[in-house]
Amino acid sequence: MKIAQNNTEETTVVIIGAGASGLTLATFLQMAGIACIVLERRNRSYIEMRQRAGVVDARAVRMFEQWDLTDKLLAGPVATTIDYRLNGIGRIFKITEEDGISSRFCTQQMLVGNLMRELLDNMSGDVRFDVSDIGIHNEEGHRPKVTYTDASGSHELVCDYIAGCDADRGITRSSIPEGVLTKYTHEFGYAWLAALVEAPVTGNPIMAISDHGCVAQLPRGPHRSRYYLQCPLRDGAEEWTDDRVWNEIRLRLNDESIQNAIVHDKFFVPLRSVVYAPMQYRNLFLVGDAAHLVPPTSAKGMNLALYDVDILSQAILKAVRDKDTSALENYSETVLPHIWNYQDFAVWMTDMMHDAGDPTQNGTFRQQIARARLDNLFNSETAAHLHSEYQRGTN
Ligand SMILES: Cc1cc2nc3c(=O)[nH]c(=O)nc-3n(C[C@H](O)[C@H](O)[C@H](O)COP(=O)(O)OP(=O)(O)OC[C@H]3O[C@@H](n4cnc5c(N)ncnc54)[C@H](O)[C@@H]3O)c2cc1C
Repeated sequence: MKIAQNNTEETTVVIIGAGASGLTLATFLQMAGIACIVLERRNRSYIEMRQRAGVVDARAVRMFEQWDLTDKLLAGPVATTIDYRLNGIGRIFKITEEDGISSRFCTQQMLVGNLMRELLDNMSGDVRFDVSDIGIHNEEGHRPKVTYTDASGSHELVCDYIAGCDADRGITRSSIPEGVLTKYTHEFGYAWLAALVEAPVTGNPIMAISDHGCVAQLPRGPHRSRYYLQCPLRDGAEEWTDDRVWNEIRLRLNDESIQNAIVHDKFFVPLRSVVYAPMQYRNLFLVGDAAHLVPPTSAKGMNLALYDVDILSQAILKAVRDKDTSALENYSETVLPHIWNYQDFAVWMTDMMHDAGDPTQNGTFRQQIARARLDNLFNSETAAHLHSEYQRGTN
């Protein structure tokens, strides 16, 4: 990093947002010797406490392996199976492997904490927390500039590239002039209540369908898990008391032996899919949730964000080291087919799971069709293989 004036600095890449994608991108760039500065509006401990995804998929594991970071970042056990159930009866379903590499049960919180330690404590990376008033100047014919404020005053960063890793409500996407981006969106018409509870997954993670709606239980570390419960859009988290949550879990899993445990937090998540295209404008590149959202049913949001980082980091390396900007120019075109493939998977999976459950959703005919499909998945090796191929994006 070069100091140009009192409060003006130069760097190669400014990354907005220190979440899963921003920290991964910064770690790769730092390892490759490319100067970068991360700007984050929250403080470090807030970010390290934020609990979200729970599985790093096989593709992302392979990416971290290529950077020799798997052991440092992905401490969780290998994820090989999920317990799928239909009205209490089900079978163990094998999670996709890619070329012998398995997914990992590693919470997003653990990944982010490990990235933070690697980047800040072991690599002297530059992450600036508690910043506000970020301004993006990305004009034709000029090097991009990012301005921001912190406790010490106003600052300006002159750079070559800006990575917008600041999720759906961040500021980078809104800095792109109106008319450049197209927003594609799909509302599913129902919601999930997400409850983080003080009860670990004791066997396999569970995805269960019942006449009362879907329920999923996914691991979130050694002592906690997150339950997801399908609920109507008209509900809100406040209508779901802790007792109601546990009663519905027992009902939907058909298991009266489940005991109430502490509920740490509850979110109400209306299910929707969103894609913004193109994912770049001049020298600004959108990454992860800043460019696309998938419903949590597909467990892919963080993994898609990591996919974007994989493509963008390689493109930046090529631009900086080889002075070849072709991969950067094609970033959006390279990434979007993969994103749409997963949107397709997410819609298929989400509709099937919800149609198969509560018949007030789409009627008993759709319920039976969806159950037949699930039955195929549970009982047919061919269908299960096709599902795996679908999820890998190879269909
Ligand atoms: C309840 C829940 C459950 C989920 N479950 C799963 C799952 O099981 N599997 C899965 O793969 N995905 C899951 N996801 C999705 C996953 O968490 C996201 O897709 C992932 O976090 C995207 O990473 P990101 O880096 O794009 O955004 P984030 O991780 O959200 O990071 C964005 C960062 O930008 C910062 N920021 C925002 N605005 C500004 C600003 N103006 N200035 C500076 N910084 C800013 C934020 O503070 C944050 O640190 C879940 C999400 C939620 C909410």
